[in-house]
This record gives sequence, C-alpha cells and structure tokens, in this order.
Amino acid sequence: MEMTKVRFLGACRGVGRSSFWFFHGNLNVLLDAGMDVGAEGESRYPLLDDQDIPRLDFLIVSHAHLDHSGYIPYMVKHGFKGIILCTRGTRDVMELLWLDAARIGKENKDALYGEKDVTKTLKRIRAVEYHQHVRLGKGVGLEFLNAGHILGSALVVLEFDGKKFVYTGDFSGKETHLFHRFERPPKTDFLMMECTYAGTDQVLPSTPNASHELAKQVKKALERKGSVLIPVFAVGRGQEIMLALAQAMESGFLPRVPIWLDGMINKATDAHVRNVLQLRESIAKRILLAKSNPFKAKFFRVPSSKEKREVFAQQGIVLATSGMLTGGPARLYLERFAPDARNMLILVGYQAHGSLGRTLAEGARMVEIRKRVGVKRVHVRMDVQSVHFSGHADYPGLVNFVREAQPKTVFLVHGEHKKMEAFKGVVEKKFKARVLIPYLGQTVPLEGKGF
Ligand SMILES: [Zn+2]
Ligand SMILES: [Zn+2]
Repeated sequence: MEMTKVRFLGACRGVGRSSFWFFHGNLNVLLDAGMDVGAEGESRYPLLDDQDIPRLDFLIVSHAHLDHSGYIPYMVKHGFKGIILCTRGTRDVMELLWLDAARIGKENKDALYGEKDVTKTLKRIRAVEYHQHVRLGKGVGLEFLNAGHILGSALVVLEFDGKKFVYTGDFSGKETHLFHRFERPPKTDFLMMECTYAGTDQVLPSTPNASHELAKQVKKALERKGSVLIPVFAVGRGQEIMLALAQAMESGFLPRVPIWLDGMINKATDAHVRNVLQLRESIAKRILLAKSNPFKAKFFRVPSSKEKREVFAQQGIVLATSGMLTGGPARLYLERFAPDARNMLILVGYQAHGSLGRTLAEGARMVEIRKRVGVKRVHVRMDVQSVHFSGHADYPGLVNFVREAQPKTVFLVHGEHKKMEAFKGVVEKKFKARVLIPYLGQTVPLEGKGF
C-alpha cells in the first residue's frame, strides 16, 4: 500500500496562512495556500520551499479568504504547474481579493505578485460543483460539500483507499440570510477542523437575533440624529448586514435613510448575484425576480465623489471595508464620524488582536488612524457597539460537527492554542476520538498506528 501522510504548513496553534500537504504515494495535493496578512516576515507565508512548488499535482481551495488562498498566485509565479480545484463562487471571489492584494502590494512596494500573475493563476483553475466527484489519482477522489461560511466555501472530502479524510476549511453551523449551515459530513476517518471559536463559553447568537440587535442599535443612533458606521469584510458579512438592514427597512422598523456601500463590498455583491445558485433558495428566488432583488433596493447607494460629500451632507448608514478598520475607506468615515457623540460605530465580525477595531472594542477613546501620508490622532466620542455576525461555527457548532462526522482521528487547526487544548479534552471525552494539535512543520502518517 502507498504511504499516506499529511504535513502541516500553517494555521497551527494560530489563525492565518492555512496550508496542508497531503501525500499519497506519488500524488501531492496541497489543501489551501493562505497568507497571514497581519504577520511580519516569513511567518506571513506557508512553510513551503519554493523548490517544492513544482512537485504539487493539485491545489484544492476550501474558500476564497486570503488566509486560505492569498499565496496561490505567488505559487503559480514560482512554477506551480498543477490544477487548482475550487467552486465557481470561490474562483470569482478569489479573483477580486487577489487583484486587490496585487494593487495594495504595488502601492506599498512589497507585492508578492502582480495582475499578470493573477490572470495566469485564474487559467489554472478548474471549477468543481458541490457533490461532483473528481478523481485525483489511483484510489483518490475529491468531493466538495457546502460549508456555510462564505460564497463558494466548501468542506473538502478526500477519499483514499476507502478511507475518508475531511478538511472543514472555515465553516458555520448557523443558518444565515445567504447560506445554509454546513452540510452533513460523511462518516469520517480523519477530520482536520478549524476551531476559531473553540472556547467552551463561545456561544454566538442566531442570525435572526443578531439582525434584531443590529436594527435596534441602528435605530437608537438614528433617533438621536446620528449616523452609523459599520465596517464590514467585503465578502460574506457585508452581504449579511445588507440583508439584515434591508429587512428592517422594508418592515418599517427602521426609517429609510440612505445605506452607503463603499469599497470592495460592491464587486463582492455582484459575485453573489452571479453565483445565485450557491445561495439559499429563498434569497436566490428574490434575486432572480429582478423586482424583489434585495441587493438592488433603493436605499442602497454608492458614494460618487472621492470626498464622499453626499454621505456627510445627511444622516445615514455606511457599510465600508475593511472589517477590522485596518485599511480601506472605513477609516475615512471613522475619522469624520468619531468626534460626534450622536454617531455610532458597530463592529460586526472577528476583530484580531492589534487591529484598530479590536482597540476600539476594548474601549480606547484616543486612537491613531493611519493615513496615506502619516497618522492622524482622533478623539472618539461616538458610541461603540458590537453585534456578533460570525461566519464561523461557535462551540456548540463545532461539537455538533464532530458528532455528525464520527471521526476516529481529529486534527485541530485554525484557532487559539489554549482554546484548542480545552476543546481537545472535550472531543476525547465525549467522542472517544484521538485528537492531535499539530505544530508547524509536523508530518503525521495516516496509516498504521499514526501518532
Ligand atoms: Zn474564512
Ligand atoms: Zn480562515
């Protein structure tokens, strides 16, 4: 029998640069190739030698977020000649995110790859539908299942010699406006799962509850004649927030003030409309009947001037990238809205340590906003609120996934080490599975006694 093993190249005891090398005899398959955008130096990239890149036969991408896909055009630039497999939705969103990364890299003079590399990379992609069976080699097959995280996100199911290896990528256990929760995984031998919210106390609200809380907060600010800034990630949460606000306005709960959409969120919304069949049926139907397309509602507007004069001239709600206020137009709105106590900032997603969003969530009232040239100090008098819309499974969601997959062996990746240790204990006790928290660079055989 051919030797099968997996090597952990990133997202070990941490989040960022997800990448895992699956070996089966002569077949070399890479699962994800992400970048840790917040890190410095070598730790931004997967632990993969340039000289090993041409050895890879396949690169399978779970979803488009840069911590899972940001390294791929670099690999094509450095001799990757294999096939990239992902869903159509993932391909469309990766194109947007890669072009944006190339543009920012050019501006900062530290580009890993340029627009031409992105074009070359897109040509190596073969889009795969959910539930389509793909043969990777003798005795090795692939199937994607819905992961419920963002547009196109997939659970990766590898089958080798009759055994199942499931890689979750990032996944969600909750029904949202756009997506169904993760699809039931098959009975699994080896499960490699994300644990972003593995803390036993991490229970997140349902989408209807989060939507209601969001609308309530927005109403409070509008009633005192303030405006609202909601920094959003371009893909996923941005569209969820759009739908939550549209619903609150259509029902009459919120007055119909303009909702300004600024940054990459607009192109990302177009990608959702193009891939309408990957969305849940109720929303797909509304989009296909052009008249009721919620993304085209009249209150959604795009600022036309660079100075955003029309936005500041009246009361309104602004959805702008980036989600953690680390870049993008959201920072300009923060600078303008911050000094007025009637205004409100609502943080809706994961805020990484050290990001401006996290600093504000933790109560800082004097902050520095990085500008194109220099830094501006701003006194924050506006009201700062957090409403949790997450695309990740919370603790009960993670437990539920393990219960459904019934794995014999579990690898925990993409999470904080301390929480992983606690979660390891839970899985061992509850499900009698072997659990490993791999370290960076570790190789684990998937046969014999293993570890
Ligand atoms: Zn993700
Ligand atoms: Zn991720």
